[in-house]
Amino acid sequence: MPHTVSTPQSWRSLHKRISGTLGFVPTMGNLHAGHLDLVRRALDENDHVLVSIFVNPTQFNQQSDFDAYARTFEEDCAKLDALQDAEKRLYVFAPQEKHIYPDGYAVKVLEAEDSEVLEGKFRPGHFTGMLTVVLKLLNIADATRAYFGEKDFQQLLLVRKMAESLFLPVEIVPCPTRREEDGLAMSSRNARLSAEEREKAALLYARLSDFSRSDAQVMKTLEKDGFKPEYVETRWRRRLAAAWLGNVRLIDNIPAESGAQKEGKKHAVVS
Ligand code: AMP
Repeated sequence: MPHTVSTPQSWRSLHKRISGTLGFVPTMGNLHAGHLDLVRRALDENDHVLVSIFVNPTQFNQQSDFDAYARTFEEDCAKLDALQDAEKRLYVFAPQEKHIYPDGYAVKVLEAEDSEVLEGKFRPGHFTGMLTVVLKLLNIADATRAYFGEKDFQQLLLVRKMAESLFLPVEIVPCPTRREEDGLAMSSRNARLSAEEREKAALLYARLSDFSRSDAQVMKTLEKDGFKPEYVETRWRRRLAAAWLGNVRLIDNIPAESGAQKEGKKHAVVS
């Protein structure tokens, strides 16, 4: 099993004993193939890799969602162990809430522009919780590079913005979204879909990819399909969406140009 540490101090003293570059992959655990892509890439590009597993309470909007979030530490470690090579270059940081929030969440990171729209509009406070924990984790990890999925595109954009504006000495590396065969973006929350919902869920990606329809038309189509869409919007040269299916909230995004290029159509990209 990968070497696991649980306090910032224990990681720091271990970090001092290893040399070379460090890749860092922050996660909330319940690892799937999308997470493992990030870890593999980090192993390819660095001498050592640290994966953090921490279900961050401050970025959840509902206590019920936080409580329902699957905690599968043993399985996660087994999946990471399978990626280990002979040199054992992979480490796990699995802190508790008290280690990360010694101040009780009195100090926060606020981005007051791009965090207000899309996810931020529907999940008030989510990005402040996310940025705060990511800054703490980046400071603890002290890595050369940190890996984030495009699946959470607005998160990636905000983390990059924070790293630039606060002069963080780390390279933020974006990684493509890993999808199921039918196109559904992999997510820890997909397991909560019923069999019927799971089948329908693939339509989110299919509708998003239909550039013959406007964002507003895609919203309407998703409603007819049985989703409760919160937004479908083109921004940052991406087309992004969030929609509820039963009790599960799904998000996805794709490059805004892809469909237009494929079909040779002119397509307005709103930035
Ligand atoms: P999470 O555990 O959901 O906080 O995700 C940890 C990291 O994995 C984040 O950078 C996510 O964007 C990334 N991630 C989650 N799902 C996927 C996916 N399907 N493909 C690629 N990266 C992903």
